[in-house]
Amino acid sequence: MDLYAYTYVGPEEIRRSVATFPAGAPIVSARDIEAWLTCHPDALAEGATYVIDLQGRLRLAPRRSEHVACAGGEEILAAGELRFRRAGGQLTVAEVSNQSTGYCPDTDCWAAVALALGQAGVNPPSGFTHEVIFRRCTHCGERNLVKEGWFVCVFCDADLPAGWNIGPRRRIHVKEPG
Ligand SMILES: [Zn+2]
Repeated sequence: MDLYAYTYVGPEEIRRSVATFPAGAPIVSARDIEAWLTCHPDALAEGATYVIDLQGRLRLAPRRSEHVACAGGEEILAAGELRFRRAGGQLTVAEVSNQSTGYCPDTDCWAAVALALGQAGVNPPSGFTHEVIFRRCTHCGERNLVKEGWFVCVFCDADLPAGWNIGPRRRIHVKEPG
């Protein structure tokens, strides 16, 4: 599967302040998730920070962790917030978003999330439950979160471009399991 690799675009001082933090726990099986939730029981109620790393793996960190720390400073295929829910003994995804102001990934990073969740033995929902549209204003340079389809810069009122334009991203090939 061909996916985009996104580079960290957040503040340099944040990247530096978490440079020695451990990366998020790699999750490749249902057992990994259970082990992680046992160590982080609050995550079921309040959710977790996640990234999908360049190997296509889900990585989890406690909520309010910096995405760049969760990613070990590396590029990511997707990033956002994720909350699991137990329903009838089954672990499912209650909420998942691409909300990461550190990476500002485009909404089509969903493909990487679905792949990683499937690999971890969790049935992915049909898409993000909360989708964030990031655009950079080509007039003033500020980054915007587009609200309700209103493609206008909140800082200078200029129109925002239709296509994702936050920063550099590159196409990479990720092997699908099986
Ligand atoms: Zn602007």
